[in-house]
Amino acid sequence: MATFDYAPAPESPAIVDIQPSYGLYIGGEMVDPIDGSRFKTVNPATEEVLSEVAAAGPTDVDRALAAARAAYDGTWSRLSGRDRGKYLYRLARLVQERARELAVLESIDNGKPIRESRDVDVPLVAAHFFYYAGWADKLGYAGFGPDPRPLGVAAQVIPWNFPLLMLAWKIAPALACGNTVVLKPAETTPLSALAFADICRQADLPPGVVNIITGAGDTGRALVEHPGVDKVAFTGSTEVGRQIARSVAGTRKKTTLELGGKAANVVFDDAPLDQAVEGIVNGIFFNQGHVCCAGSRLLVQESVADELLDRLKRRLGTLRLGDPLDKNTDIGAINSAEQLDKIRMLSEVGESEGAERWSPPCDLPDRGFWFPPTVFTGVSQSHRIAREEIFGPVLSVLTFRTPAEAIDKANNTPYGLSAGVWTDKGSRILWMAQKLRAGVVWANTFNRFDPASPFGGYKESGFGREGGRHGLAGYLDV
Ligand code: NAD
Repeated sequence: MATFDYAPAPESPAIVDIQPSYGLYIGGEMVDPIDGSRFKTVNPATEEVLSEVAAAGPTDVDRALAAARAAYDGTWSRLSGRDRGKYLYRLARLVQERARELAVLESIDNGKPIRESRDVDVPLVAAHFFYYAGWADKLGYAGFGPDPRPLGVAAQVIPWNFPLLMLAWKIAPALACGNTVVLKPAETTPLSALAFADICRQADLPPGVVNIITGAGDTGRALVEHPGVDKVAFTGSTEVGRQIARSVAGTRKKTTLELGGKAANVVFDDAPLDQAVEGIVNGIFFNQGHVCCAGSRLLVQESVADELLDRLKRRLGTLRLGDPLDKNTDIGAINSAEQLDKIRMLSEVGESEGAERWSPPCDLPDRGFWFPPTVFTGVSQSHRIAREEIFGPVLSVLTFRTPAEAIDKANNTPYGLSAGVWTDKGSRILWMAQKLRAGVVWANTFNRFDPASPFGGYKESGFGREGGRHGLAGYLDV
């Protein structure tokens, strides 16, 4: 699908050492699961089995939480902020030292292009640990009183779209504030979290401060519902978020939920169109569209809609889809067969409801899970593809005439995680940012992340903020 061929430039997988099977990281050691069951994790670009990982049962969850409690009472809550900070800096530096290995492993297990895991995910992981390392001895100056206390043991459950980055978003602030954690990665992407377990060992982190247990939804449920938990931090779908909200209601567990999104990316007629095209591409095709804050609804002002779409389609014709380990690849594999089915199903619904579907000419590899970049035009607000999160490389295009109509359409969603605005006028950016009901509003850019900047949702996108000073509040007794 490229304008001319590039020679392949694959990153070597030799740097990663994937073991045939993994146990659970509990109390500073890799241990076998007590209930004994295991499941496979596959490379979504090839369907090759990478390894077998343990499915933690209720007894394993008990053990991991007991290890976290012992570490909280015995060591971590007694350390000074300065000493906790030293450990966090050490974790950050080890992530940097092992950056290439982590990037390759993430691309192999998740399917995302190496360009993204190498240049976005892993540097942001290190940045998060560095950032929260800096807070560890300054909590008394964070605006929560002179001596804010940690909560205790945190149960953390994360999704598969940014496995290591979501781990960093969870573990770095928890540890900085003096909590210990039990984290469960998603079932399709456990390997980078297990590599992080090895980094904890390398950093000589006191045993039990970080525990990593693998498994699917049952393990996640057993973890968040356990009475030995003081804090629940969940990132994933709104549906599971609802179940968790019900289970923690009436308990002492402090909870943050980072859920789904259906962001509007709003392009006005005075926007620099070529830049907007780059922002639209980054907004919905970055990470195959497996991004909670993806700009999945393009709202374009009617007077420039045709021109913008022409330029967008031309640009999409130059994207390279294929081997995630190839440094030229823009679009990698869909993370799982299940997710591919969901994207296919919703795209078919889009067509049957009357929207017009377009993809650039694109050869899909024979094996693995793939979906071409796809644009739907003629979309109306009632279409399912304009309302439901597709979580794939599928853009729904709607038009508007006035700024007020843009706001109405952008906010016409049960979600409220992010939004984008493209315009030449600073005053319009500020006006839009005030009216848009979204946790993050990007202006003349999209999908930009920084550890110092809080991130989180309104409405069905969840509650609580991660990142920045705000991210500390979820892990302190304030
Ligand atoms: P998911 O909700 O199916 O799974 C997320 C995690 O929860 C997985 O680890 C899973 O094993 C676990 N889980 C499943 N059922 C559970 C239960 N009953 N109790 C406890 N844990 C359970 O979501 P997913 O498909 O892995 O991820 C995609 C979703 O995540 C999308 O909706 C996306 O928008 C959202 N997401 C949100 C953010 C954010 O910051 N707001 C970031 C990334 C992804």
